[in-house]
Amino acid sequence: MTTTIGIDLGGTKLLAVRLEDGEVVAREHFTTPGEATELVSGALAAIREVWGNGVDAVGAGVAGLVQYPEGVFVWGPHVAGTSVRLRSELEAELEVPVVVDNDANTAAWAELQRGAAVGCDDMLLVTLGSGIGGAIVIDGRVHRGSTFAGEWGHMLYQEHGLLCDCGKQGCWETVASGPALVRLAREFITLNPDGQLAHRLRDEALTGEAITRAADAGDESARGLVAQVGAALGRGLCSLIAILDPQMIVVGGGLGSIGESLLGPARRVAADALHGGAHRTLPPILVAELGPEAGAIGAALLAEDRVRGRLVLD
Ligand SMILES: [Zn+2]
Repeated sequence: MTTTIGIDLGGTKLLAVRLEDGEVVAREHFTTPGEATELVSGALAAIREVWGNGVDAVGAGVAGLVQYPEGVFVWGPHVAGTSVRLRSELEAELEVPVVVDNDANTAAWAELQRGAAVGCDDMLLVTLGSGIGGAIVIDGRVHRGSTFAGEWGHMLYQEHGLLCDCGKQGCWETVASGPALVRLAREFITLNPDGQLAHRLRDEALTGEAITRAADAGDESARGLVAQVGAALGRGLCSLIAILDPQMIVVGGGLGSIGESLLGPARRVAADALHGGAHRTLPPILVAELGPEAGAIGAALLAEDRVRGRLVLD
């Protein structure tokens, strides 16, 4: 039996799963206080929560720029630390092989192996959470470009636009992410303090989850805000389709799991904006099947590949 652990280190969430012969047998979700968590100690704490007998290897997906296969976390706007040698530090501590990759790349691997993209060779994964992450799969393999391909959350969406967590202005993720939805809701409630949405959310923190719950419950204002984020998502997806023309786009991450109320508007806007749209078909834009756990599961699957000799890092 092969036992591996996968963790996903994101901006505000930390997930850990243990796989035995590919099946998830233990899982832990943590909410981290953002940049207060030190990367190596946070990773070790999560791994130990799901540690069991006979762990053969560990995989980690990290939100940000990751040098692969060296497993160095170079930098990321949502995670603390720079130039952290995560792979070698975890290997020294745990004494098992470790694989470290970008979290969208690990999530794409999971969706390819057992999720929405099984049997697909050319696909894009777009993860929506604290920001936008991305992975490019070409001919069944993650395409890395020189090193960091797929960081389209930071492609320029609007000149002189909103300030992004990365320090630049007008990045795509400033208008299509969890924080973007929260910002829209805050503006809406300020303008409509006596409205139904303000009333519904008055006793809870204004979070992406709370707004999407309101949308799911049929609140028209909340549905409108989700659709606005969906439209911004669709405009960016249109650019990705123009460049890479994938067989399919899989949308994951916490916000991506909303589903049709987000993806319906995204598809309509992308179809309208796509050049030559009357003469071609928009690729399917689908919800990720593995949900927010995809990054952690994909990391554990990469670790399994390493144990079985299907993945050689050095
Ligand atoms: Zn940015």
